[in-house]
Amino acid sequence: MTEQKTETAHNAADAPRRPEVVVIGGGAAGLSGALTLARARRRVLVIDGGRPRNAPAAHVHNYLAREGTPPARLLAVGREEVASCGGEFVEGSAVAAERLAAGGFRVVLADGSAVEADRLLVTTGLVD
Ligand SMILES: Cc1cc2nc3c(=O)[nH]c(=O)nc-3n(C[C@H](O)[C@H](O)[C@H](O)COP(=O)(O)OP(=O)(O)OC[C@H]3O[C@@H](n4cnc5c(N)ncnc54)[C@H](O)[C@@H]3O)c2cc1C
Repeated sequence: MTEQKTETAHNAADAPRRPEVVVIGGGAAGLSGALTLARARRRVLVIDGGRPRNAPAAHVHNYLAREGTPPARLLAVGREEVASCGGEFVEGSAVAAERLAAGGFRVVLADGSAVEADRLLVTTGLVD
């Protein structure tokens, strides 16, 4: 009996903690939102398909303090900043999101996995 209790407690401690906010889209907008939330000590998970709008561009311009930076570098630094505050990432595409009757949202990814969170931030950008 004691053994079973210990096992249960162990599993609970190991279980991944449900994020408070899921951010769909890890471009400049999503990472900015995620950084703000993570700095406010929210548990944040960013789901990103890895296809930012400006991917074809060689350099970013008119972005204060980052003139000439390759777009991929800008996002890599952004991800590091979010991660340094505890934010987490999943590579993949969200294909569906639904509001749960008990509160919160469930987001389904293209690979069939799903994640639940209290809040949803959609920053999927535009496609030219
Ligand atoms: C060629 C070009 C050059 C540009 N040059 C500049 C410039 O020099 N300076 C400047 O300030 N701006 C520039 N821009 C504009 C800039 O790229 C955009 O303002 C910026 O990318 C918008 O950021 P965003 O986060 O809203 O969207 P995006 O950068 O498009 O990021 C959206 C992210 O969401 C992901 N996503 C989308 N749908 C899903 C889904 N269902 N599930 C999971 N992830 C998803 C995408 O894969 C992507 O990673 C340029 C744009 C283009 C097209």
